[in-house]
Amino acid sequence: MPHGDDTRYAVVSCHVERPLDDAVWARFSRLQGRAPGGFHIAALIRPPDQAAGEGEAEWLERAREAASRGPFGLHTHWTSPSHARPTPGGEGPAARVRREVDWLRERGLEPELFAGGGWYMDDDVAQALADLGLVDCTGTAFTPSYLPQDASRLAATQPTTLELPSGHRLAEVPATHSLGMLARAVIGPLPPVVHAYFHDTDLLDRKRGVALELALCALRFRRPPGRFPQAP
Ligand SMILES: [Zn+2]
Repeated sequence: MPHGDDTRYAVVSCHVERPLDDAVWARFSRLQGRAPGGFHIAALIRPPDQAAGEGEAEWLERAREAASRGPFGLHTHWTSPSHARPTPGGEGPAARVRREVDWLRERGLEPELFAGGGWYMDDDVAQALADLGLVDCTGTAFTPSYLPQDASRLAATQPTTLELPSGHRLAEVPATHSLGMLARAVIGPLPPVVHAYFHDTDLLDRKRGVALELALCALRFRRPPGRFPQAP
């Protein structure tokens, strides 16, 4: 595997939204196991939502499997499985992140990465991530079409280190391409570092699954599989 140039590489992550859905999990699991194009897909996984009746035992088994096959991270949905961004009056977003990371660690799972649901980010969440030693993947190089212009998010085009108001530092690896963007971009201009992301639920559509694998196999010739940076 060419690793000579650490300024031009690609990483791939999946927002694992429905780990307890057998059909979705089977497809994600197979794909992550195959590592198409040599890309070890990072599983950014949503913890079970007890209020929504999601059980812990099967979730843990699947999360451990995902963690054994590639980089592992937390994907927090602040409101519910189907509502990713925080709602006013609920648990504070940063408190939720700290609680979920503690919950994972108590169960022997060590998240290295984080992606906020609905691309939500604020200063307190960033500080929590720095304190917890995680690398953030919530930034995006594109503006998510469904978010209002003034929505709290993090715009970044390439991996960087953020200086937080506290003086602490947070490594940021923004998503540069969605699955659809990657399929179109892989034959055109690409930034030095590509971070492609998709959702596990994308894999329910066979055409999208095939498009993803083809895009990753093509991407490999333009940007070698790299590693997510470590926390500073
Ligand atoms: Zn999500």
